[in-house]
Amino acid sequence: DAPVLRKPAWIRARAPLGPEVRRIKALMREHKLATVCEEAMCPNLGECFNHGTATFMILGDVCTRRCPFCDVAHGRPEPPDPAEPEHLASSIAAMGLRYVVITSVDRDDLRDGGAAHFAACVRAVRAQEAGIRVEVLVPDFRGRESVALECFVDDAVPDVFNHNLETVPRLYREARPGADYVGSLRLLEAFKARHPDVLTKSGLMLGLGETRDEVLEVMRALRDHGCDMLTLGQYLQPSREHLPVRRYWTPEEFDSLREAGEAMGFCNVASGAMVRSSYHADLQAPL
Ligand code: SF4
Ligand code: SF4
Repeated sequence: DAPVLRKPAWIRARAPLGPEVRRIKALMREHKLATVCEEAMCPNLGECFNHGTATFMILGDVCTRRCPFCDVAHGRPEPPDPAEPEHLASSIAAMGLRYVVITSVDRDDLRDGGAAHFAACVRAVRAQEAGIRVEVLVPDFRGRESVALECFVDDAVPDVFNHNLETVPRLYREARPGADYVGSLRLLEAFKARHPDVLTKSGLMLGLGETRDEVLEVMRALRDHGCDMLTLGQYLQPSREHLPVRRYWTPEEFDSLREAGEAMGFCNVASGAMVRSSYHADLQAPL
């Protein structure tokens, strides 16, 4: 077993809360919405809510996979709620958000992996709130990629298509059982081929035992598959039952990876210990 490492000083514990954050939180409670921001106790919550950004979980909170770094419950999920797109859209409008990220658990139980439901949510949010920007952070739709991509058409084409690789291929077996590195790269590439004008984005968590060379190799592979934007953050262990943190990458190392990413041609790289997939998403995506 790996020893439990001490958290270095640059890992911030919690975000400061202000009136705007409290207002949005209360509305989320009232509308019974699940956000990754709250469920994952994201340290950036104060900052993001103040910017009018939040990440919503659709398709329930039970995942068909079991990744040992992830705190989401696993099991047999409920069928999609047909009222969810409208409900999500009206709640987002009530909150006055300007940039939303829509994400979901893996739904290997659904024929399209949940893509049609994703698309319905994007459409509904756009219909309610003109000018809002919508990013989708999608699962890998493994084995259903082409059916899934058919769903993102017309009003359902997101402003940003995000799919995280999460880690380097050597660690997939341990960290992402059931996922396929090459398949994930191909999903990003296939979306880009259909929608060359829409930004694609991916991200990794560092600290699971990967080397800098391995990270650089993944970054190059992302560029080779047309990926435009990148997020790199520190993995934090949700509990003692989850994969241990093998190493805390330093702020200097995150900076140096950002520079390497910019040199490779990513149009935006967010790299830092507290960066999450949706961190500063509104600022990352150019208008
Ligand atoms: Fe929510 Fe993402 Fe911001 Fe965290 S970084 S508060 S998950 S939008
Ligand atoms: Fe968590 Fe996603 Fe893995 Fe499901 S597929 S366990 S939601 S990381």
